Amino acid sequence: MFENAPILKSTKDYTATRNACKLCAPLGASIAFKGIRGCVPIIHGGQGCATYIRRYLISHYKEPVDIASSNFTEEATVFGGGANCYTALNNVIGQYNPEVVAMCTTCLSETIGDDVNLYMHNYKEDNKHENLPHIVTASTPSYQGSHMDGFHEAVASAVKTFAKAGAKGKHVNLFPGFVSTEDLRQLKYILSDFGLDYVMLPDYSDTLDNPIWESYKRIPEGGTPISEIETCGSAAASIEFGTIINQGSLSGRVRSKSLSSTAASYLENEFGVENHQMPMPIGVKLSDTFFNALEKISGKEMPTRYKRERGRLIDSYADGHKYIFGKKAVVYGEEDFVIAMTTFLDEIGIKVVLAATGGESGKLESEIRKYCPERGEKILAKNHFDYENIHEWCQENKPDLFVGNSKAYYIARELNVPIIRCGFPIHDRIGGQRIKHVGYSGTQELFDKVVNALIEYKQDHSPVGYKYM
Ligand code: SF4
Repeated sequence: MFENAPILKSTKDYTATRNACKLCAPLGASIAFKGIRGCVPIIHGGQGCATYIRRYLISHYKEPVDIASSNFTEEATVFGGGANCYTALNNVIGQYNPEVVAMCTTCLSETIGDDVNLYMHNYKEDNKHENLPHIVTASTPSYQGSHMDGFHEAVASAVKTFAKAGAKGKHVNLFPGFVSTEDLRQLKYILSDFGLDYVMLPDYSDTLDNPIWESYKRIPEGGTPISEIETCGSAAASIEFGTIINQGSLSGRVRSKSLSSTAASYLENEFGVENHQMPMPIGVKLSDTFFNALEKISGKEMPTRYKRERGRLIDSYADGHKYIFGKKAVVYGEEDFVIAMTTFLDEIGIKVVLAATGGESGKLESEIRKYCPERGEKILAKNHFDYENIHEWCQENKPDLFVGNSKAYYIARELNVPIIRCGFPIHDRIGGQRIKHVGYSGTQELFDKVVNALIEYKQDHSPVGYKYM
């Protein structure tokens, strides 16, 4: 009976991702939206998506993280999630009284083709006599990209929704990408020390890392106000960290048009705001790029404090060199993080043998070669790698240390080598959100950690131990 059935085309061997080295897109969008003042994110999809995201963020930030869900059921999956969307908006507005509601889509709501922007339009029409909060949406199905694509999609969407044209001001926009809360605070100090007025988007330095409260607050303090985002279109310049940003799955899968522009490139095209795009400022070389841009934009020389930080950092490079030179490192995580961290490790004489990411831009290798011109060709740079790929590769190649988030801990433990925890997520330590990575002082902290981890390893494995070096 199957004689005339079409012959299925053979496909090449395919292995599903095992323990992905990336996270889901609405998770990244939720973090970015948490950096807008008074914002409550709603995940338009099943309860499980929001629960997973809350659980994941609470484990890293050790803060309450309220993220609502439109709670898709079988019925919504068949007939569309419009009714759920309205109920979620009514509940969130009624219970939180937010300044902003941010609606992120999920794999499910995108797969059934829910038109969230139409729902939002209808909701505003139906409630036009009410005092509604600002509403922003982000298209964030995880089959289109990772948490980083979701993060940058949210930032770009906020800028596209709220930025306005205006007379050119003297302030700058800083789009720092996905850095730690401590990094955000550090960046604000730096901009202030250059005498610059700035809009930093997102700014979750307080919302995801608040001081202790006397009583519970439904919406944490802090975040970038909408009134500031509105001025992004009249800024003197933008600085945007990251050279991959939201390039989604360029390696062949679905990619939406909305992922084609970053926040800063949109502002440049739409309002003529000059865009200074650069890698994350980790290491001397990449921090110099950032500080040079600040000097150019502000017209001021680098403040003495930072000149001295830079000098101390280079001095420590000389002090620590003999303990780390030639050690083989594996770096993994988000693409822009991996590029900057690899450049820093290369700068201090560590051999990065594997630079791996679950991201799928297809550009990791060329970017690493660009920023590590001498050794770049010898670094195995892998897009679309998972932790099991890293595990198998390391069993063969025996690196000396791991640099990245806590998810590779089990591999480092098996190989009995140190892991330098940085980036996101850090699930097995306290203070993951307070790790400083950027600028000369952030690099100093990373450098000391790397050197001391290798010294400690040597000390622990010495048959006699030693007290002086
Ligand atoms: S279904 Fe999609 S959006 Fe939801 S948690 Fe899974 S990957 Fe994320």
